[in-house]
Amino acid sequence: MDCIFCKIVGGEIPAEVLYRDEQVIVIRDINPQAPTHLLVLPTTHLASIREIQAENASLAGHMTVVANDMARREGMFDKGYRLAINCGEEGGQTVGHLHMHVLGGRQLSGQLG
Ligand code: 5GP
Ligand code: ZN
Repeated sequence: MDCIFCKIVGGEIPAEVLYRDEQVIVIRDINPQAPTHLLVLPTTHLASIREIQAENASLAGHMTVVANDMARREGMFDKGYRLAINCGEEGGQTVGHLHMHVLGGRQLSGQLG
């Protein structure tokens, strides 16, 4: 499959991998929008958050737990940070492999859309 994030998971495309377990990896975003900008991605291909249903909802929970751990490691747990998942074209998703943005390290704008 021609998926850039599957290739990163498989090691075919290099990325700064900060964390890896069976279910997810965490990489630094190549075009950071904040001092800390990480991406939490499932190791299996899911096109978007639309594919989360009752049967695999624990994956979304795990992504959140890992995102919180990474925020702690990056020193922004107490000050705050933003977790964002873009979904589909109008939702601003540009890479068709589910990922959660972890953004922080400065005061983020109140704009969400
Ligand atoms: P989206 O717009 O789909 O929510 O977010 C996609 C994110 O992936 C963007 O922030 C973009 O900078 C990042 N990205 C795209 N290609 C690569 C890549 O090859 N490596 C890394 N580390 N990030 C990427
Ligand atoms: Zn993929």
